[in-house]
Amino acid sequence: MTTVTANGTPRRKFIGMNVIIKKDRSAWLQGPSAKCSAVPGEHKHPWRLILLGAPGVGKGTQAELLTGRLDVCHLSTGDVFRAAGERLDRDQSPAMKEALEYMRRGELVPDSTVWEMVRERSSCILDCGGFILDGFPRTLGQAESLKELMEKEKLSLSAVVNYELPLDEIVRRLSGRRTCGKCKSVFHVTERRPKAEAVCDHCGGRLYQREDDRPEAITVRLEAYERSTAPLIQFYKDLGLLLPIVATGSPGEIVAQTMDKLDELAAQRGDGDDRRTTLHLAPKL
Ligand code: ADP
Repeated sequence: MTTVTANGTPRRKFIGMNVIIKKDRSAWLQGPSAKCSAVPGEHKHPWRLILLGAPGVGKGTQAELLTGRLDVCHLSTGDVFRAAGERLDRDQSPAMKEALEYMRRGELVPDSTVWEMVRERSSCILDCGGFILDGFPRTLGQAESLKELMEKEKLSLSAVVNYELPLDEIVRRLSGRRTCGKCKSVFHVTERRPKAEAVCDHCGGRLYQREDDRPEAITVRLEAYERSTAPLIQFYKDLGLLLPIVATGSPGEIVAQTMDKLDELAAQRGDGDDRRTTLHLAPKL
């Protein structure tokens, strides 16, 4: 049975909290020459969100879970680099080859390279109904560039969700993480096990451990986070956009908490119903 809100929009609680609704991200992953087969619907107040948090806190998983519920695009810079890494060597630009080296070591890619890549894909931010940025911005410089880009188009962020988690839990999550080589879905060797060993539940692709999820790279990534990304928390707090969430519990519990906070925020701003998830995306339960 499905219930709808007063304006005919479905209530999000009828989408199971662990259900992932995949959307085409070709234009983001491959660049402006590619087109997405479907884009988010028209919304008067689309969600424009940033997800912040240390590596391994579960931003990617939350972004995947939130995307269908909020009818937005999942824009992950890490996924763009990984997609480029899978291309043939001769199809990679020198800047991209260099970026992939930084990534393998767990270091941040230089701002100029990241910004070039995001700027090329700026229509995914500016012209798409709504978005969740995951892994970007990661430095104050990137945050300033994004602010400028959006201000020029008179667009504003809805909120910056900051996922908080103790360090030992982060390390446990990162070292057990497994990623699908084909559709990029994320699993965990103990917490979010695939139905069949090393096989993706969604597309049947092989699961692998990311190079930067190996112990030596994890330490480097956490240091880079502390040094460069943690200052963004204050930056967005000062802008009145920060929404802190304690990221303990299952992915379903965390997404439920996130949706509750977003609902509260939308209600405070008086634009709640328009931002709810859309029925046609929900699988039959
Ligand atoms: P995680 O959040 O799990 O560390 P991501 O998938 O977001 O992973 O990013 C993987 C790697 O890609 C980073 O460690 C970094 O090398 C590179 N990268 C991604 N986004 C950025 C960014 N905005 N600035 C600099 N480097 C980035």
